[in-house]
Amino acid sequence: MKAMVLNKICKLEENQHPLELMDLPIPVPEEKEILIKISACGVCHTELDEIEGRIPPSEFPIILGHQIVGKVDKTGSKVTKFKINDRVGIAWINSACGKCTFCIEGNDNLCEQFKATGRDVQGGYAEYTTISEDFAYTIPELFSDLEAAPLLCAGTIGYRSLRLTGMKDGENLGLVGFGASAHLVIQMARHRYPNSKIFVFARNEGERRFAKKLGAFWAGNIDDEPPEKLHCAIDTTPAWRPIVEALKNLNQGGRLVINAIRKEEIDKGSLLKLDYTAHLWLEKEIKSVANVAKQDVIDFLQLAAEIPIKPEVQEFKLEEANRALVELKESKIRGAKVLRI
Ligand SMILES: [Zn+2]
Ligand SMILES: [Zn+2]
Repeated sequence: MKAMVLNKICKLEENQHPLELMDLPIPVPEEKEILIKISACGVCHTELDEIEGRIPPSEFPIILGHQIVGKVDKTGSKVTKFKINDRVGIAWINSACGKCTFCIEGNDNLCEQFKATGRDVQGGYAEYTTISEDFAYTIPELFSDLEAAPLLCAGTIGYRSLRLTGMKDGENLGLVGFGASAHLVIQMARHRYPNSKIFVFARNEGERRFAKKLGAFWAGNIDDEPPEKLHCAIDTTPAWRPIVEALKNLNQGGRLVINAIRKEEIDKGSLLKLDYTAHLWLEKEIKSVANVAKQDVIDFLQLAAEIPIKPEVQEFKLEEANRALVELKESKIRGAKVLRI
């Protein structure tokens, strides 16, 4: 099978062709696994982090990609959930132990044996892949393969962040930063909490306009003061200052959910501005969000079909994966990049 493979960590500025087209054997499914013939795989910022070593793969060579859509091509002898030709998706969570307390409580994203697709296990920039039937999902009919792929990452993580806010209908939600995940969260929040007001904090005017178009009640800059206090907020920025600003805007008992794998060091000094009374006192909470749980993917796909959320997609061939990644890094065009395989 054809696959685009990463052999070692490198900087995209120095090497614009980090992935190499290779011909590899088609993987063979184990008893509880299905073999998937891939038709689409989304291109995510996490791949840039993997290539450049900020989220290093656990083995090389590695096939990246964790937003996979395709059809079941073969089933292992003990597979019961899927049959040949069923359309399925794979997300970032590739497997977890299934036995620890985290797994049993549905927080398999926190399992110590959590394995990520395209980081710890071969991913979707290829013609085929295998996965346990327990970590494959039926894709709602409404979506084409290309539309479904980007929902499997930005959408599911956004869904988990929204869930972790614990918000109720009528409460005010703040979205700090307005990228791929927040675009989807605003649509989910408006559908699920029709009486809530959404306040968007974004650095550039274009993003603020877009937020209003998607139904934000108010949109301002990161350090602008919103007209009302927030019951909860989701931060998706790579910086620290927005956290301090968001805490200031929270109501008593409010919760800030930080949806970021890591934060940059560059403005860490902003934390020295943290004032206990203004930012933390009165039972304010801070919670981060990590990975996605299996149930988040299942629930989100259903919600996305119900709303419906249809992502804008920009299509590339498998062989053009390097170009897609370079364009993503330079953030040339809005819309999710997807490889058609
Ligand atoms: Zn992703
Ligand atoms: Zn576990």
